[in-house]
Amino acid sequence: MSQAVRRSGSRDRHPLAWLPEEWRECMTQWGEPGFRAQQIFQWVHRHGVLDVEQMTNLSRPLRARLREHGLESPLQEESLRRSSDGTRKLLVRLQDGLAIECVLIPRANLEEGGVEEDEDEDADAEEADSGAQRSEQPVTLCISTQVGCAMGCVFCASGQAGLKRGLGAHEVVSQFILARRHLDAGERIKNIVFMGMGEPLHHYAETAQSIRLLTHPLGIGLSPRRITVSTVGLISGIHKLGEDFAGKIGLAISLHAPDGATRSRIVPMNESQPLAELIAALRRYPLPKRRRITIEYTLIDGVNDQVAHARQLVETLRGLPVKVNLIPMNPIQASQLHAPKPEAVEAFRRELLLLRVSCSVRQTRGDDVDAACGQLALGSARRLQHAASEVEEANVSEDLDRQPG
Ligand code: SAH
Repeated sequence: MSQAVRRSGSRDRHPLAWLPEEWRECMTQWGEPGFRAQQIFQWVHRHGVLDVEQMTNLSRPLRARLREHGLESPLQEESLRRSSDGTRKLLVRLQDGLAIECVLIPRANLEEGGVEEDEDEDADAEEADSGAQRSEQPVTLCISTQVGCAMGCVFCASGQAGLKRGLGAHEVVSQFILARRHLDAGERIKNIVFMGMGEPLHHYAETAQSIRLLTHPLGIGLSPRRITVSTVGLISGIHKLGEDFAGKIGLAISLHAPDGATRSRIVPMNESQPLAELIAALRRYPLPKRRRITIEYTLIDGVNDQVAHARQLVETLRGLPVKVNLIPMNPIQASQLHAPKPEAVEAFRRELLLLRVSCSVRQTRGDDVDAACGQLALGSARRLQHAASEVEEANVSEDLDRQPG
């Protein structure tokens, strides 16, 4: 990429991370009419065309100039593994050789990605492509924001080797562009969950730019309500996300414990982002009416799985519009920790429901393709290790139960 393209402001980013206004700036600099900006943005984001020769409404000299500056994808597809349940897991190579992954999950296989059923119509109305058909098969895309992770949650495979680096917005949005090519006929990516490798709020600026790209009406045009950011609970990031997107982006909080002491044992970030402050930040999040925050709670045998924990969780969350997603821990190689017995999971769930907290138990899907986020990329990095023992959480899930009454 030449200096001419990358010079100033947000145009420091790779061109695939430019919004139409950034393209407009570039076109002005190149002496091109402003409408070219929109055309290029549409080719890239709406149509997923990165080969400038296919951008047939651009002049030849402009195409040559774009080619010279490089619009090629920063991602190379390494493998695609398809589960018998339709889940597709993509292992993707970055330009520096590191690997990430993203997963396509057909709706039938998962709980709502933070989107309430009764809000679908609102979200549909906001979507750029008003031709969207009800008959389309909705698919959720789970994307990564970092290679590795710095948060160090003791039960999570992604963080075991620490953080290699954060992804740029161009690498995040390119996951969408690439994954979209693997949709079956009639399928459409309706929801995006930032639940792959990494902590999305750690590199907030890139995550925010990728959300702007994914939701831009001239491009992919996804409604912000259809995007859910899952976070370990970085308080300033939650605040910025709420401000920058007026609370429209769905939040999933990896709480995993009802009290600070228990949480610190398994989520080291709790030391610097204390539970009470996190909860206060959630109360301040400008959540639209009818929406709820997802509370992720990985159940670990003997650590956070007692009925007393469930009761305390209800107290901690009192007054917050939430739904709790219980995730029996998937085993990882680096830890002896493991899921409680099914009876304990059931007792925990029952207690929450009894206390009228909406709750579901997440079930791993796509097992036959290791569709647990983190697993495939790690498996390839440590080539000789058993992928099966690298299991991290699958964001492939299903509502097993609903709140009574
Ligand atoms: N950094 C983000 C995204 C992480 S992955 C976050 O912390 O939310 C999404 C979810 O999977 C998180 O709730 C994470 O804590 C959970 N998870 C990770 N490893 C797991 C495992 N082995 N078993 C169960 N859940 C796990």
